[in-house]
Amino acid sequence: APLILWFRNDLRLDDNPALDAAARSGAPVVALYVLDDESAGRWRMGAASRWWLHHSLAALAADLGRLGVSLILRRGRAEFVLEGLIEETGAGAVYWNRLYEPWAMRRDSEIKASLRALGLTVESFNGALLFEPAHMRNKQGETFKVFSPFWRACLASGGPPPPLPAPKKLAAARAPESDALDDWRLPPTKPDWAQGLRETWRVGEKAARARLSEFAKDRLRDYKTARDFMGEEGTSRLSPHLHFGEVSPRRVWAEATSQAGEAGLPFLRELGWREFCHHLLVAFPEMPDRGLDKRFDAFSWRDDPAALAAWRKGVTGYPLVDAGMRQLWLTGYMHNRARMVAASFLIKHLLIPWQIGERWFWDTLVDADLANNSGGWQWVAGCGADAAPYFRVFNPVLQGEKFDPYGDYVRRYVPELAGLDARWIHRPWEAPADVLGQAGVRLGESYPRPIVDHAEARARALAAFEDVRLN
Ligand code: FAD
Repeated sequence: APLILWFRNDLRLDDNPALDAAARSGAPVVALYVLDDESAGRWRMGAASRWWLHHSLAALAADLGRLGVSLILRRGRAEFVLEGLIEETGAGAVYWNRLYEPWAMRRDSEIKASLRALGLTVESFNGALLFEPAHMRNKQGETFKVFSPFWRACLASGGPPPPLPAPKKLAAARAPESDALDDWRLPPTKPDWAQGLRETWRVGEKAARARLSEFAKDRLRDYKTARDFMGEEGTSRLSPHLHFGEVSPRRVWAEATSQAGEAGLPFLRELGWREFCHHLLVAFPEMPDRGLDKRFDAFSWRDDPAALAAWRKGVTGYPLVDAGMRQLWLTGYMHNRARMVAASFLIKHLLIPWQIGERWFWDTLVDADLANNSGGWQWVAGCGADAAPYFRVFNPVLQGEKFDPYGDYVRRYVPELAGLDARWIHRPWEAPADVLGQAGVRLGESYPRPIVDHAEARARALAAFEDVRLN
C-alpha cells in the first residue's frame, strides 16, 4: 500500500528523516503538502511567509519531480485532507517530521491517534531541531529556563546525530489530483509589495545550501565580531531557510563544525537560541500570547495609534529604529540588533504591548517563527525566561553609533538622511542647521523629528516597569 509523506516545515530532500524512512520502506510514496489555515487559527502564516512558502513549494515540487514523485497540494483541515487522501489512494502509512507550535502539536497528536485507531502506521520524526525537547532536561527533570546551562547541556550531550543524505531513489505511487500552486494565491498581487523580497532572497533548498556553504567558508570565522554590525552582512541570513526547513539545523551544525571547528561555536550558540526558544514554547504553550513572568499581566500599557503607525512605517525620527522597520517592510527581514532596538523602542519608549509588535513581525518577516518571535519579544520586554533585565532600555542613538558607526545601514534604508555624515546621522535633530541644509534634510518635513524624547521616555518606562517589579 502507498505511504503518504506529509511535508510541513521540512521543505527539503537532504537530512529529512521522514523522507529517508519513506525511501527505505520501499513503499510507493504520495508526497503531500497541506495548507491548513484553519488549524493554525490566529497563528496562520502571515503575508511575507506566504510569499516565501509559494516559492519554496515550487522548488520542492521540482526537486521531487527529479525523483519521479509529484508534490500533491491540498488545502483545508489536515485531518480531513488526510482522511480523504487515504481513501483515494488506499494508503497504509503516514510519515511526517514533527512541528512544535502548540496548535500543530495538538492537531498532530489527534491525527496520530485517530489514524492509528483506523489501523494505519503513523510515524513522526525529528527533522527540525538539534535536540528533542523531551530529552533535554535540567537536574530537576524540567525544561531549562536559563540559556547558559541549557546550552552547556546541549554541548555536553555530544552534539546532534550526523545529517542523513538525500535519498537517491524514491518509489512513486500513482499521483492523485493536486491543487495548482498558483490558485492558492500566496504571493501578493494588488498591490504587489514583494518587489524588495524578490530582490533580496533566493528561495528553496538549493539556495539555502548555497548560502550555508558560502557563509561557512567565507564569513563564519568572523561571525563573532561581525554579527552585530548592521551595515555589513556578518550573519548567515539562514533564518527563513531554517524556518521552512529548506536546510536542517543538523546540516548547519555539521557544515559549521567541519569548516571552522571550535571557531564555529559563537555561531552555533545562536542556533542554540533557536533550540532554546522551541523548547520553551513546548513547555509554555502560552508563550506567544502571555508573558512567562505573570507579574507583567498587570502592566499598564498605553494605547497610542499614531505612535504605533509611526513605528510600523519607520518614521519615528530615530534613524536606527526607522532603518530597521523599513528594512523589514522592504525585504521581509531585519538585522538581529535592529530587531532588539526596534522592539525595545515599541515596548519601552512607547509603552505599547509587545504582542502588538510581535503581530506586526509575524505578518512582515519572511522568517516569522512562533518560537523565535515570541522568544525574542519576551526577551526584550523582560517578561520571558532568561530575559533582558527590565531596566535595560536600548538607546537607539548610542546603539546606532556603536553598531552602525559609519551610518551605512541608515543610509541604505533611510535615503532621505543619506547626505548626513556619520557624526550626525544617528542624531539629526542635534545637527547644525547648515549641516542639515547641505545634506538636504528638512527636519519635520523630509524626515520627522523624534516622536518621543529618549530621556523622558526612558524615565517613564523605568517607573512603569518598577511598578511591575514591586508587584
Ligand atoms: P544568524 O546570526 O546567522 O544565526 C543563525 C540562526 O540562529 C538564525 O538563522 C536563527 O535560526 C537562529 N537565531 C539567531 N539568533 C536567534 C535568537 N536571538 N533567537 C532565536 N534564534 C536565533 N528569529 C526567527 O528566526 N524568526 C523570528 O520570527 C524572529 N523574531 C525575532 C523578534 C525579535 C524581537 C528579536 C529580538 C529576535 C527575533 N528573531 C527571530 C531572532 C533573530 O533576530 C533572527 O533569528 C536573526 O536575526 C536571523 O538572522 P540570521 O539568520 O542571519 O542569524
